[in-house]
Amino acid sequence: MSDKMVEVYDLRKYFQAGGIFRKNYVKAVDGVSFTIMKGETLGLVGESGCGKTTTGRLILKLIPPTSGKIFFDGEDVTKLKGKKLKAFRRRANIVFQDPYTSLDPRMTVFDTIIEPLRTHGIEVPDPEDFVIKLLYEVGLNETHLYRYPHEFSGGQRQRIAIARVLALRPQFIVLDEPTSALDVSVQAQILNMLKDLQKKYNLTYLFISHNLGVVKYMSDRVAVMYMGKIVEIASSDELFRNPLHPYTKALLASIPVPDPEIAKKKERFRIIGEPPSVINPPPGCRFHPRCPYAKQICREREPPLKEIEPGHYVACWLYTS
Ligand code: SF4
Repeated sequence: MSDKMVEVYDLRKYFQAGGIFRKNYVKAVDGVSFTIMKGETLGLVGESGCGKTTTGRLILKLIPPTSGKIFFDGEDVTKLKGKKLKAFRRRANIVFQDPYTSLDPRMTVFDTIIEPLRTHGIEVPDPEDFVIKLLYEVGLNETHLYRYPHEFSGGQRQRIAIARVLALRPQFIVLDEPTSALDVSVQAQILNMLKDLQKKYNLTYLFISHNLGVVKYMSDRVAVMYMGKIVEIASSDELFRNPLHPYTKALLASIPVPDPEIAKKKERFRIIGEPPSVINPPPGCRFHPRCPYAKQICREREPPLKEIEPGHYVACWLYTS
């Protein structure tokens, strides 16, 4: 049996935009390839609108791809239907960013957590006991069982959302900015809990975030996205110690540091301007209008994602001849 949980090959998602007479496309995800090993956390990082969330939803078959292949534990996700799709939905799930909208305000905690089992026709001998055990797993208890979402804080609501996902005993979870709507003090507790649950149940995570500090803490490997493309992938340690792509360097430079000397050194990696239009992305390297190292070839040809050192892939002409 393969130790790959998720395999993605040349995945694309184009959304139609514009009027009836002239069709334009937003290339939200434009030819990304990567794998996630079983038990691993792959961090997916980049500015908002770079295609991170769309990638996560494509993998879970929540939206159809324009083209490309996705395999989950060796099975082609794009072809799943009927019973096989239902079985996939048990094994792969998502925790959304906003715990205020992801829970039904009319449902108690018990109903919220037991509902996925009912949907999948799964019976447990003692539903109340089943839910209470899950509540303890996420740091809540039986006193919360028959309360409603409005009675909880943001952190507690996210714990309920995580318990609901765990109810089906998934193997793979997309964590889409799971703590970015929470207070900093609560963030750390939720992240530590997610790490503990991963160890306990050998979970595989795709961890989506724009927060590099959080991504570093959570991820074994990190993929950096820019305008629908992956521009760099490496182990978390390697990426933060030795970033190669100018965009990754700029992202790292944007992490605030208290030392003015270090802050000054980082200044030279600052990028200029806003990302270009996603409807008409620039030719060649999409980062070239903002890159201080851009040369002629960057404006004409797209750099391939190439392995520069073992396990460290970069799409940049500075490292490719
Ligand atoms: Fe900059 Fe060129 Fe590398 Fe793109 S390919 S990041 S423009 S140096």
